[in-house]
Amino acid sequence: MSSLEIKNFGILGYPVVHSMSPQVYAAAFKAAGLKNYTYIPIPIQPGKLMLAVEGIKGLNFRGVNVTIPHKTTILKYLDAIDSDALGIGAVNTVVNDGGMLTGYNTDVAGFLAALKEANFLPEDCNAVILGAGGAARAVLWGLCKRRAEFITIGARNPQKADALAKDFMQYGSVEGLDWNSEQFKDAMRTADILINTTPLGMFPNVDDMPPVDLKLLPEGALVYDIVYNPAETKLLRTAKELGYPTLDGMSMLLLQGKESYRLYTGKIPDMKVMTKTLEKLLRGK
Ligand code: NAP
Repeated sequence: MSSLEIKNFGILGYPVVHSMSPQVYAAAFKAAGLKNYTYIPIPIQPGKLMLAVEGIKGLNFRGVNVTIPHKTTILKYLDAIDSDALGIGAVNTVVNDGGMLTGYNTDVAGFLAALKEANFLPEDCNAVILGAGGAARAVLWGLCKRRAEFITIGARNPQKADALAKDFMQYGSVEGLDWNSEQFKDAMRTADILINTTPLGMFPNVDDMPPVDLKLLPEGALVYDIVYNPAETKLLRTAKELGYPTLDGMSMLLLQGKESYRLYTGKIPDMKVMTKTLEKLLRGK
């Protein structure tokens, strides 16, 4: 089915030149016969965000994705915020309904859908999260929503891990620790899942990995790295060699894109097309 209706989309960020979203959404729109849907990178310097948000309304963009450094700042300029985005404190998708801008965070839907695809049930699990940045917030929110039993955040900076844990204590049982501490090692010994949310191992530093001893994990614990470039990080390779099941960051990335597409169009995108386009772009790097 094809549509002649014109709808414009984009990604707001700075810098935004390396984003793969324009090609991935363009491929999905084309596959759906949405000939007049366009998706462009929109570089917006910090300090210009309020004007850019007004611009979305003025230019009647149907929606935008939001990336670094605007994911948190944009909340105050929107008309409504979805409960996930409010809980996480960050927006990655804005939908424009006739001048009313609503902010969403689809990272959490992507994270939980990826766990489901991997047949991992977060309910009542003991989870260890590595890193205390933006992505850790979405992961934490998802685990709290699904009533994980206990969540330990391990980071190189224990103050940041502790502050993040305090932000989420109202939603679940969460602690923040130095990932070199004995207490953190004890948490690893009872973990059902370990999730890396640091960029350690990401291209081009593919020989890096978080400095934790995977051998402490119980047999069968899932090792999940949300880094998607490369899909198999050194952390995952090491975990596989030790016999642990693993999950890479590609599915979270694709499934958050699926959810944003659904919010924009009310339809489900062709996931094969999105996956193929993303894989081709990553291979070309
Ligand atoms: P962020 O907000 O900058 O947070 C990064 C975290 O990692 C911080 O806790 C930071 O610690 C820590 N970290 C950074 N470099 C480190 C190092 N060399 N040694 C130890 N810790 C280090 O970044 P983010 O937005 O959360 O993104 C993190 C990663 O997740 C990126 O690789 C991103 O591509 C990936 N991601 C994937 C998806 C997906 O869909 N698969 C979605 C979102 C993000 P400090 O605070 O001490 O610097």
